[in-house]
Amino acid sequence: KHILCIVGTRPEGIKMAPVIKALKCEPWARVTVMTTAQHRALLDQVLKLFGIKVDVDLNIMRANQGLSELTERLIAALDANLAELSPDVVLAQGDTTTVMTAALVAFYRHIPFGHIEAGLRTHDLHSPFPEEMNRLVAGRLAKWHFVPTVNAMENLLREGIDDAHIHLTGNTVIDTLLDTACSDWPLNIPLNPNRRLILVTAHRRENFGAPIRAICRAIRTLVNRYPDVEVLYPVHPNPNISTAVRAILGDHPRIYLCDPLDYAPFVEAQKRAYLILTDSGGVQEEAPALGKPVLVLRSETERPEAVEAGVVRLVGTDAVRIVEEASRLLDDSTAYRAMARGVSPYGDGQASRRIVSVLRNSLLRETSASRI
Ligand code: UDP
Repeated sequence: KHILCIVGTRPEGIKMAPVIKALKCEPWARVTVMTTAQHRALLDQVLKLFGIKVDVDLNIMRANQGLSELTERLIAALDANLAELSPDVVLAQGDTTTVMTAALVAFYRHIPFGHIEAGLRTHDLHSPFPEEMNRLVAGRLAKWHFVPTVNAMENLLREGIDDAHIHLTGNTVIDTLLDTACSDWPLNIPLNPNRRLILVTAHRRENFGAPIRAICRAIRTLVNRYPDVEVLYPVHPNPNISTAVRAILGDHPRIYLCDPLDYAPFVEAQKRAYLILTDSGGVQEEAPALGKPVLVLRSETERPEAVEAGVVRLVGTDAVRIVEEASRLLDDSTAYRAMARGVSPYGDGQASRRIVSVLRNSLLRETSASRI
């Protein structure tokens, strides 16, 4: 069976890598890896780290490309390639425009689509934008829904998806994380081991403008208030983020701004962190498994499980609130320990094995049925 795995961005690379590797060990599977390179540099770096060779590179990224233009170019390029490759299955992960268009084009070509990390919802079509719409479309069109949690499964059941098509596998991000976190990686940043490290990532579209400026002001206040605290912030190259971050945080001796870190050093930074401030989805999944408290710089999340477990808190983007919540964790060791328990609501490191086993059973059953 010919399986086409499509990846567009860094988190998709991180989360698809263990599935691609597991599929490549299956004698019944012929795997083609296609990248749309919706985010070129960051994706290339993770594919290289995991030793994944790209077979087809659509290289779709253009500077300042709007969502309609991106969608139009993805549909045209994916459709031409699906026509030529004619795979038996298309697999994609997450909620980007790459995933939404892959599901749509596969549907038009009558090729079954498998959606990895299915069922995540905020239940607000406009937030996150456009990701909630992207995952709704992918979720409507998928034949296999690989859900990370029971909550994600329940979201799909409420939308009327047949439970026979929903497979509870855990999130593949934990497969990758556990593989990487068991080694120590050089960080190449002169961190002071006697200081408490706050690791920051923030680059979501909804935080462009006033929210990112408020986040940066809060970080500056925190570092000034706590002389034993230092901050590491790998800054996304998008100028909507980097201009504000460098203007507000660029000149502080205990704030290290750097380019996005390679995945393995970033995991190392999470291991060394005392506390993490982020608006990232993947970091909300990884940090609890590493026992690190997370304050989420958003007002809602499609990953409520760690919030319910008490190891992640939603704090939004108000500077006063961010400072208050972080100060509580820096001042109160009992509150800190309660959030640093080390729980992993998103997986046990076996998600890709389960996904491959579902595909194997389903596809080989079809083959033997067609022979009868
Ligand atoms: N990450 C990384 N380097 C960095 C920051 C994040 O490798 O400098 C990883 C992180 O470990 C996580 C993923 O990138 O697995 C999260 O990506 P992002 O925040 O871009 O997207 P999201 O998870 O919100 O979809």
